[in-house]
Amino acid sequence: MAGNENKYVTDAVDSTWITPLGPYVNRFEKLLDGFLGVDNVVALSAGTAAVHLALDILGVGKGDEVICQSMTFAASANPIVYLGGSPVFVDSEADTWNMDPALLREAIEARIAATSRKPKAIIVVHLYGMPAKMNEIMAVAQEYGIPVVEDAAEAIGSEYCGRKCGTIGRFGILSFNGNKMITTSGGGALVCPDEASAKRALFLATQARENRPYYYHESIGYNYRLSNVSAAIGCAQMEVLPDRIARRRAIHDIYVELLRDNANVTVQCNPSSDFDSNYWLSTILLKGSSPVTADRLRELLAEHKIETRLLWRPMHMQPIYADAPAYLNGVSERLFDHGLCLPSSTTHSDEQIRRVAQLINEYTA
Ligand SMILES: *Cc1c(COP(=O)(O)O)cnc(C)c1O
Repeated sequence: MAGNENKYVTDAVDSTWITPLGPYVNRFEKLLDGFLGVDNVVALSAGTAAVHLALDILGVGKGDEVICQSMTFAASANPIVYLGGSPVFVDSEADTWNMDPALLREAIEARIAATSRKPKAIIVVHLYGMPAKMNEIMAVAQEYGIPVVEDAAEAIGSEYCGRKCGTIGRFGILSFNGNKMITTSGGGALVCPDEASAKRALFLATQARENRPYYYHESIGYNYRLSNVSAAIGCAQMEVLPDRIARRRAIHDIYVELLRDNANVTVQCNPSSDFDSNYWLSTILLKGSSPVTADRLRELLAEHKIETRLLWRPMHMQPIYADAPAYLNGVSERLFDHGLCLPSSTTHSDEQIRRVAQLINEYTA
């Protein structure tokens, strides 16, 4: 928590605006608009809901294929299935760990050959805050006329070529779940390209009720609007967002410095000055020469009460998506085998981060 949450939540409760609309929802959206430099952010109950609405507005329906980065959290892909569509997974490239633009092109060509239809959308993810290679991905997407949904759930504040992640594709999605850069306890947002699509998102998020004196529905709607109480928390969190991002980057700097001389560990870093990750999580890859595997290192650190996690297990390796078409190059499987997410919370002291790095050096030297 940042400081003003209690004050704003109390104010929201006192005002009796505790429903999924109200002054704090509007204010939170304005703050997000201002931060991202856009005009049409819609606050929702979850990042997953934002992915779902983006795909719905893009017309994804029964039998449609949607391309999705394989290396991600299931919430990037599941909404394709909610809408009756089928995911097609694309592997990552080694620089950013995000969608490989060359493989994206291959996948589109292969799907057109197999189904005589274009995939309906492309979902690209900025994993752990690291921007994907958006210039290359947008060029391929534009060549085929396929809209891009940017899953920036982990990447609020990250920039690519000076542009904020979440504002580059047709739609962007943000998450304010408890584990993300800032939280509303649970919540998300859809970054829309224009007022018409923002209106559509708002309409669908509030049960798709037509403007009549009785309840009348021409579309299937959802109950996805953010509550005013959650938005009050979000408004307080927005006050500290720049500090939070600066702190995550400072934590990453400490890891880089202390692990620099370790030949068996690579800290994931911006591949060039085009990329400016928020470093939501600092992550490492262990080389084959490391005396311990990533999972063994996780166990050893756990003995010191230090929690680390393996990287996201790619979607094409999930039982639920075993039958989905997947265009692979081995990168995401290698990342899953050798990668680890390190403690990155802004509440950790420099001292604590140094201790984690020192233990990693001891176990992997
Ligand atoms: C957290 C997350 C989501 C989903 O956001 P929720 O707010 O938890 O629904 C989607 N995609 C990615 C990559 C995430 O990390």
